[in-house]
Amino acid sequence: MAAMTVTSPPERTAFRTCPLCEATCGLELTVVDDEVTRIRGDRLDVFSHGFVCPKGSTLRQLHADPDRLRRPLVRRDGELVEVGWEEAFAEVEALLGPVIAEHGRDAVGAYVGNPNAHNLAGLLYLKPLLKALGSRNVFSASTVDQRPKELACAWLYGTALTVAVPDLDRTDLLVVLGANPYASNGSLATAPDWPGRIEAMRARGGRLVVVDPRRSRTAEEADVHLAIRPGTDALLLAATITALARTGRIDPGAAGPHLRGLDSVLDALAPLTPEAVAADVGVDAAAIEALADELAAAPRAAVYGRIGTTTAEFGTLASWLVDVLNAVTGNLDVTGGAMFPKAVAGAANTRGEPGRGRATRIGRHRSRVSGRAETMGELPVACLAEEIDTDGPGRIRALITVAGNPVLSTPNAGRLDAALATLDAYVAVDCYLNETTRHADVVLPPPSPLEKDHFDLAFHQLAIRNTANWSPAVLEADPDQPAEWEVLARLALVLQGMGADADPAIVDDLVVGALLASAVGDPHGPVHGRDPDELRVALGDRRGPARLVDLLVRLGPYGDGFGARTDPVAPGVAPLSLDVLLEHPHGVDLGALEPRLPEILRTESGQVELDAAGFLDDLPRLLAAVGRPVPEAVLVGRRDLRSNNSWMHNIEVLVKGRPRCTLHVHPDDAARWGVVDGALVRVAARVGAVEVVGEVTDAVRPGVVSLPHGWGHDAAGARLGVAGARPGVNSNLLTDDAVVDEPSGNAVLNGIPVTVRAVEAVEAVVT
Ligand code: SF4
Repeated sequence: MAAMTVTSPPERTAFRTCPLCEATCGLELTVVDDEVTRIRGDRLDVFSHGFVCPKGSTLRQLHADPDRLRRPLVRRDGELVEVGWEEAFAEVEALLGPVIAEHGRDAVGAYVGNPNAHNLAGLLYLKPLLKALGSRNVFSASTVDQRPKELACAWLYGTALTVAVPDLDRTDLLVVLGANPYASNGSLATAPDWPGRIEAMRARGGRLVVVDPRRSRTAEEADVHLAIRPGTDALLLAATITALARTGRIDPGAAGPHLRGLDSVLDALAPLTPEAVAADVGVDAAAIEALADELAAAPRAAVYGRIGTTTAEFGTLASWLVDVLNAVTGNLDVTGGAMFPKAVAGAANTRGEPGRGRATRIGRHRSRVSGRAETMGELPVACLAEEIDTDGPGRIRALITVAGNPVLSTPNAGRLDAALATLDAYVAVDCYLNETTRHADVVLPPPSPLEKDHFDLAFHQLAIRNTANWSPAVLEADPDQPAEWEVLARLALVLQGMGADADPAIVDDLVVGALLASAVGDPHGPVHGRDPDELRVALGDRRGPARLVDLLVRLGPYGDGFGARTDPVAPGVAPLSLDVLLEHPHGVDLGALEPRLPEILRTESGQVELDAAGFLDDLPRLLAAVGRPVPEAVLVGRRDLRSNNSWMHNIEVLVKGRPRCTLHVHPDDAARWGVVDGALVRVAARVGAVEVVGEVTDAVRPGVVSLPHGWGHDAAGARLGVAGARPGVNSNLLTDDAVVDEPSGNAVLNGIPVTVRAVEAVEAVVT
């Protein structure tokens, strides 16, 4: 009898950057027979060195999730049913065409969700899609939690993503406000393994100060924890600056010659002394003085503010004051301070004339109902529901969403949920039927993350070290599945009136053509005056994001400039192009951050405009807030390592175990309100109420309760089997769409006045 031959299934190893959060960790994937069998950290990744959090290894489960949509859905007789792609695009045309024809382009709104920042197709093809739409009613997740920072940076430095990030690996003192990087892995400051980097800082003698109303996981590690009252970061920052100023300790150092208006800023802040704001901030004036002392004494220090500072009533001012504090302590744009990354591609601060730009204007149009100002081409998402549910000319009657779940993530979510049900037409690009997309008439699913190329166009601009990493798709998509860029391009073509079957390559070629035209016209760029057709030929046969990334990298500060640069950009690394990146599957390390002032500036004055009118005009609002009455309780959010907004709640391994959607209540408050650990409590705010399990803990300060966001998976019609079994409650049923950070229009998600009572106590009152 012949011996039987046993062949092992073909096994291969693939490397890619994790697309789930801003940390951009490198992953090593084992693939057997086109199935991913294991994911772990890529120890050779030039930035993450093997670090990975519990979410990273679940890309495998995400890919295999039976609830993940693989074919388009179209609503027929009230039910969403699977159809082919041609039928789906025909339906898009049939739904949106008449709305535009009858009511105009503003009648179609668009919402762009946060996952697009992690997604090449979104970063590159949403712009042409929104241009084709031509509506003023464009909203995004940026006005949920980061527009104040973007606006502050635009006013200070000239472009929204010119963000000074903490030089984590070289600082001696890190002051963190409103951020919990041990759980979030960082935001608007890209660094794989924040915890390891903070621990390394402390091991070399550095110190960590955390400012947070909660004793977060990060605060637990701090040398000093200032448990301030929610929403008072701007007052604390102003008072710290004033404490330095009145003792003659203002020293901007090397950044000094590039700062405009420092004296007038210090004059304007002068009333906000530690003594004046201490009661509002909720800490002693001495603690604020001590913070000033520590910053003045540290050889190198970096102040970093995130969610708690930007989802607050004075978000833009707080974001401004973070950078003012870095500047007045000599820590702006210096080693170990707050520094500016130099991204390999796509950054506005590496294009055009170094050190010169245009003023950033807001309010070029306003929302119809509340009159809120446009910022960066978008209206505040807090206005979305009222723009749908308020009758009158210009009402939003149809909506396009691309990723995101605004029913869980935006303020007064109950109102938005109800408004979505009234739309004449709703087209969603999404891989899940979630609490938002369950309202859609058409759902167009993109490929899974493992079926897409990846490159961090956005996060290279925010990274604490200059690196570059291209990740090819790991798995082949189903032959019927269009690439995500093709889905967005076809949508754009439908909106342009070119028909449901127009070729998406038209959009791709237009985008390339526009970028080439701009590049050859830029006298400061590497291809000025060259023939765009010659450059187009040099890009070869690639199409879609790969061609665009190749183009942007080659035009960027480390690029080959289509032959203009020949010297290595790092030891053994030729000037960059996509081909060069493909030779480095673990990424390319381009070195630590270096001082970049003044070439990075794109302001009208060519200086850091500390005294921009937008800041000084808003300051009286902050001054008027001093001494206001304090509500009985205010609500803040909470981040968990296993959660990423609402995205990852359908992955069993991430949500199993003890419930995480609980209300944290301080023991003193629990006693006052009759709250018992583990029992239901009712939380009520101006716009809504929820019942949730209470968790009594001294991790929150008295008068503050905390509820994580992204939960509330109990909506009928959503298809999230795992999440639906552990729904939690939607914290945004409590947040208020009428209260925003005034300059940016950003939602206020922290510091919401609420009342809290045990459910039994509420029932006793009612009966
Ligand atoms: S920290 Fe972020 S990027 Fe890194 S593995 Fe986790 S989810 Fe992915």
